[in-house]
Amino acid sequence: MMKHQFVIIGGGVHGCAAAWMLADSGEDVLLLEADEVAAGASGGFGRRGVRGNRRDLRELPLMRASYRLWPALADQLGADTYYERTGGLNLIEQETTGTKGGLVAAEAHAAVQSRNGVPTEVLTRDRLLELEPNLGHAVRGALYCPFDGTADHGATTAAFAAAARARGAVIEEHSPVTGVETAAGRVTAVTTAGERRYEVGQALLVLANAGAVDLLRDHFGVTLPVWRILPQALRVRAGAEPPMHHLIGHDHRSLSLKPLPDGGVMVSGGWRGRWNAELGRGEEIDANVRGNLRAAAEVYADLADAELDFADARRPESCSADEIPVIDRVPGTANALVGTGWTGHGFAIAPAVAEALAFWARTGARPESLSPFSATRF
Ligand SMILES: Cc1cc2nc3c(=O)[nH]c(=O)nc-3n(C[C@H](O)[C@H](O)[C@H](O)COP(=O)(O)OP(=O)(O)OC[C@H]3O[C@@H](n4cnc5c(N)ncnc54)[C@H](O)[C@@H]3O)c2cc1C
Repeated sequence: MMKHQFVIIGGGVHGCAAAWMLADSGEDVLLLEADEVAAGASGGFGRRGVRGNRRDLRELPLMRASYRLWPALADQLGADTYYERTGGLNLIEQETTGTKGGLVAAEAHAAVQSRNGVPTEVLTRDRLLELEPNLGHAVRGALYCPFDGTADHGATTAAFAAAARARGAVIEEHSPVTGVETAAGRVTAVTTAGERRYEVGQALLVLANAGAVDLLRDHFGVTLPVWRILPQALRVRAGAEPPMHHLIGHDHRSLSLKPLPDGGVMVSGGWRGRWNAELGRGEEIDANVRGNLRAAAEVYADLADAELDFADARRPESCSADEIPVIDRVPGTANALVGTGWTGHGFAIAPAVAEALAFWARTGARPESLSPFSATRF
């Protein structure tokens, strides 16, 4: 039997970052990962966007803190995160897009984002072409966030894990948590499929992304309005250089583009794969691969005859009913915290979430930045 003060379930960016934050404060930490570190949404090819542009306003305090934390992270962890402030553009083609977008809304978004720590400028087409000369004719303007950028998610997650270990945290891979023991509203121990039992001294952090939903339902009797999706990511090659230089998002198209350091382009943005129950994993849907490539070529003509290197829709992500995460104490417990429901944009805010969660786990006091993410808000 083993005992640790802080036990974390999940070895993605959130679990590994929290392990590092706690271990760095001298705490005794165990992290249990079902597979390997970065086997889930925090792994795979390419880059993840570190984006404040068009983020839900309730997440902006976390984004502001993340802007502060990202630049120093590689030095603190002693390993590269490949974080780069490329600047981010949200491209606009239409006068209005639903109730939230289009040129009519651009000045308002820029003002409110800037006021909340995400400096944003509205660019006319002429200004935009100076930054992105290869853009198609339909784009009329953009919201520009100079602090936005990208990082290597797999490298960052591995760096958090290595730094946590270097500060004494124990990370056990191939250790799926299958049981949780509680007494008088406190989690006292967890058990793994390998029938190992680990006592929990101070707190349990459930940071298992889509797996957190099952853990809460099965072991705490808590049902969250959160479900699993399988985001699709493509890597294409269009000549020697990527045609774009910034992190690219779009006002009305399902499209996200990231230039990759090897000259390739990562194409994603709202397209999904599906769950294959027989294989027990996600798989790509051909029509969605083609649709995503079409959307990319409509904005950058150079991508029209890009070569598809590969497609990946195997990494499950969790989505919540109101598209912002759940980061809270597990209802009915005194010492378990959960973070899930990232809705496709949990990577960028991970350093700030970890800082806030580590503080909460150690002191018992919820940081103000986490108050919008309560599990009972629904
Ligand atoms: C293709 C794609 C593109 C994305 N693009 C962006 C982007 O541009 N910007 C951005 O900010 N975000 C993006 N995201 C989202 C972001 O990657 C995720 O929100 C983030 O990585 C989630 O981190 P996590 O640690 O919570 O989850 P994961 O990395 O999924 O880690 C959870 C871990 O928990 C483990 N686990 C599950 N159940 C158990 C159990 N019972 N016991 C032990 N371990 C368990 C899993 O094996 C997994 O390794 C993207 C996601 C995908 C898939």
